[in-house]
Amino acid sequence: MKIKDFRVTPLFCRFKQPYFWAQGRHDGAHIVLVQIETEEGVVGVGETPGTVMPITPILSFLDTVKSNIIDRSTSDISPLMREIYAKSFGIETASHSSPRIANQIFAGIELALWDALGKSVNLPVCDMLGGKIHKEVSYFGFVQGDTVDELSRHAEELSNDGFKVIYLKVGRGEDFDFQATKAVRKAIGEKRLRIDPNEAWSSLQAETMLRKLSQFDLEMVEQPISALSGANGLKSLRESCLIPLAADQSVFTPEEAEIICSSGAVNLITVGLHETGGILGFKKVASIAEVFSIDICLHGVFETGITTCASLQAASTIPNLDDGNQIMCQLLEEDLVLQPDLKPKLGNIKTLTGPGLGFELNQGAVRRASKAYKKLPN
Ligand SMILES: [Mg+2]
Repeated sequence: MKIKDFRVTPLFCRFKQPYFWAQGRHDGAHIVLVQIETEEGVVGVGETPGTVMPITPILSFLDTVKSNIIDRSTSDISPLMREIYAKSFGIETASHSSPRIANQIFAGIELALWDALGKSVNLPVCDMLGGKIHKEVSYFGFVQGDTVDELSRHAEELSNDGFKVIYLKVGRGEDFDFQATKAVRKAIGEKRLRIDPNEAWSSLQAETMLRKLSQFDLEMVEQPISALSGANGLKSLRESCLIPLAADQSVFTPEEAEIICSSGAVNLITVGLHETGGILGFKKVASIAEVFSIDICLHGVFETGITTCASLQAASTIPNLDDGNQIMCQLLEEDLVLQPDLKPKLGNIKTLTGPGLGFELNQGAVRRASKAYKKLPN
């Protein structure tokens, strides 16, 4: 299982419709496809989304560590990831400054290594992690649209499709947020409603908005204020309102999970494989949250079905999994996963049984997304 080749390919995967959130509008996902090939011809596939920074510096980081990966074993996942981090961010300062950024850049390598290892031994990654606890993973219906009318119509569709939890991005202006939440609540009846301002609110704004929005029976509000306000910021907000809070951007690393969980500030942690640097980091964060009886909600960035499959593998093995997880691949005009079918049925996807991460790459879609990336303006 010695690695003979390491390839990275920049892609642009267009969304079906523009994506609107507190940070503006996006028309597609910038992705770096990571492929690791063994001497036996097994190809492990992962991805690093360009959410953290533009694609060019990500490619540069990945290119720098290529020599560390070639000739190593696919089972060297932990030592290799430590070596890659130390090489890229400096051995002397490795413990402090850069885990967040390194996690997001190198997660694609970690996922590709797991995929290659699983395919080499013909086992799904969840089996190598100790086996499935969950036979399926439940997702929220992710409301899309620009206007209040569009959001309301889509929320109704998602509700009719059987999603138990509906999730709305806010942080787009106080009046807009109020009108959108009101309209979505009306459209979905008594279904569970969660909102995410993506750190857009100040402490005062958050307190005011949560008081106003509490009439719409919100189940949870995700990261209403900046992660830079730390556990204390979330805790003081939590004490001033009755609506449960989730930490998203506040938690990437196990150390941050411990600080947030022990503060009593939140009832849920939203975190994904890219924030944690891959599957092993995700399992560590989940274990820490479990000690505090806090569940983990899968987080999504601008990613493809590759991450959906990897998340299914990892999430199926943790006991404290939430039932309103985030999925993003349905937003794409064309996914990079050919099979299995990743469309939730009544909000659920069965956990995967194929070897590795459990998917077949859509080679045609990769070629088209590569062409689309090359056509992007500089
Ligand atoms: Mg969020």
